[in-house]
Amino acid sequence: MKKLVVITGASSGFGMELAKEFSKDGYPTLLLARRVEKMKALNLPNTMCRKVDVTDKIEFENAIREAESKYGKTDLIINNAGMMLLGDLATQDANEWQTMLNVNVMGVMNGMQIVMNDMKEREFGTIINLSSIAGLKPFGGHAAYCATKYGVTGLTEVARQEMSSHNVRVLSICPGAVATELLGHTTDKDIINGYEAWKEAVGAINITANDVAKTIKYAYELPQSVSLREIVITDTKQDA
Ligand code: NDP
Repeated sequence: MKKLVVITGASSGFGMELAKEFSKDGYPTLLLARRVEKMKALNLPNTMCRKVDVTDKIEFENAIREAESKYGKTDLIINNAGMMLLGDLATQDANEWQTMLNVNVMGVMNGMQIVMNDMKEREFGTIINLSSIAGLKPFGGHAAYCATKYGVTGLTEVARQEMSSHNVRVLSICPGAVATELLGHTTDKDIINGYEAWKEAVGAINITANDVAKTIKYAYELPQSVSLREIVITDTKQDA
């Protein structure tokens, strides 16, 4: 059997497409998110679905150890779970900043630390973190979200440097705008409308979550000696 792939945020969007793509090719998977029923409904073979909040390191680690006892050590973790609560820094509720910092930054670091030491010892393994194009350049209304995604870009590159001598790959994926549930959590309706209007106006509406999932799988399936350190993937028509 192929090696274990752990995917966080597998109840929708990129994570759900990743689950389907990896499972289709015979990888055993551990799917993690809070809405466990959505992952179970996929009914994928050799798949363990667990209700895990990635900000809770203990429940996160317990789920990974349980899957490893059944399928063997984690060869790939995709730290994909994330929240995007866009807002004007001058007026946004600080609870929204905290939620994003907890999930987008702490959640990613939790996932990394849970598997890193085993990977170091085995001198094998891959960590893929979902950053964003908003982790590489600024966008209006994205201040707090950018802060978290710049954080992911930074911590991923440091971890890459630290893990390189151990033959462990650490990659960041930086997608542009892709239709998923992500924008729906933003509470500022004007920002949502502006975002949708921009996508329509430039025609950046054709890239899909499945395109992103397939790209991530491609990066993983390259030989262990090949590291696609940072992938920026957008709709061709995205102008920003
Ligand atoms: P979705 O909103 O469709 O999916 C987000 C996933 O994260 C859901 O499965 C959700 O599951 C999970 N999640 C959120 N909070 C937690 C938590 N505390 N614990 C566990 N799981 C959690 O968004 P996308 O698929 O679009 O986003 C995936 C990643 O890609 C995110 O990190 C996002 O920032 C990034 N990204 C997305 C872009 C886009 O345009 N779509 C562009 C650039 C980056 P549940 O609610 O069930 O817990």
